[in-house]
Amino acid sequence: MVRAPVTSSLPAPTDTVTRDLNAWIEVALDRLAGNVAAIRGVLGEGREIIAIVKGNAYGHGAVEVARALIEAGVERLAVAYMPEAVALRQAGITAPLLVLEHAFPGDAAAAAELDIAATIHSRDLADAFSAAAVERGTRVGVQIKVDTGLRRFGVLPGEAVSLAEYCRSLPGLRVEGLFTHMANADDEDDSFSEIQHERFRAVAEALSWIPYRHAANSASALRREELRYNGVRVGLALHGLPPPNTPDPGLQPTLSLKARVARVVNVAEGEGVAYGLTWRAPRDSRLALVPVGYADGWRRALGNTGEVLIGGQRCPMRGRVMMDQFLADVSEIEGVREGDEVVLLGEQGELRITADEVAALESTISWEVLAALTGRLPRLYTRGGQVVARA
Ligand SMILES: *Cc1c(COP(=O)(O)O)cnc(C)c1O
Repeated sequence: MVRAPVTSSLPAPTDTVTRDLNAWIEVALDRLAGNVAAIRGVLGEGREIIAIVKGNAYGHGAVEVARALIEAGVERLAVAYMPEAVALRQAGITAPLLVLEHAFPGDAAAAAELDIAATIHSRDLADAFSAAAVERGTRVGVQIKVDTGLRRFGVLPGEAVSLAEYCRSLPGLRVEGLFTHMANADDEDDSFSEIQHERFRAVAEALSWIPYRHAANSASALRREELRYNGVRVGLALHGLPPPNTPDPGLQPTLSLKARVARVVNVAEGEGVAYGLTWRAPRDSRLALVPVGYADGWRRALGNTGEVLIGGQRCPMRGRVMMDQFLADVSEIEGVREGDEVVLLGEQGELRITADEVAALESTISWEVLAALTGRLPRLYTRGGQVVARA
């Protein structure tokens, strides 16, 4: 896709890099490293962090985030689907890499070529992966996922042992891991995890030859010591947001969504604004045009409901969110001008808007607010206030 012109070489101060950008994402890599350390602090000895970078690393940008995570000491990476893994390898990421969800026999060649571990759910898939590895004179790592109750993906406890033994018998496979995934990890009552864990434990005992087990996402990793096994699969917590009902080990949000005021308009009392004219000025007002819309992942549901930060103050959004822009009320703020910074997610002065706050307004969860941020937004990666990379 076409990118805005790069106005300076990196590293460079954030202001310089963003001068000619309508809107952008900033990811604070020093905070990301801090979050890895905070999670590590609660895990205890001998447990790995499997960083989940699916969905473009929850909107943060998979390649740069993966690089920074490896630098911060994360041992492994995982994604949902094979094309995500291939893209990371093609970008030069060499860390152990697992595809968590459904793969096709046609993915086997790339997996063997690029040393990507797949989750095997059938003998046919096992055959294809083994054949592709043998053809290349190698073995490819595979894992078995046990569906212990989420009823989403994996094989049932009664099928796991025979499938794992079958994979073990094939010349091209190396069965490197056994895992499961919890259904109620961040619910106030997560006791179904105990039932799922019981089912997982029975399979794990029958497959004691598989060296590596994992069962926890962010919430379970932080809440349930007994689910930490050899590694934990953390996604959301890396980005500084503790899941609901989960103790916060001192996480800091890494992502900010910012924009520049594109125009300031005076609206007379009684005038309506934006499609449908759903907001009418109760008195003469001043509105700032913010160049972010639902094509960026800033949801239409936020129209007339959300707030943004301009001039160090909270400004209510007025009218509908359109594909590429929306309006915010700056009547109470002196001297707002074209080019001023708008914070949609993140901090300005003393104020902060979190993904949790936005999620509540959209009747969704912080995971979706972040993962919904689209590729139109440039991603800038910062350390110590300087932009060090962009994507
Ligand atoms: C997405 C995902 C995770 C990470 O979940 P978070 O709640 O973001 O930590 C872990 N395991 C599996 C199987 C997943 O699909």
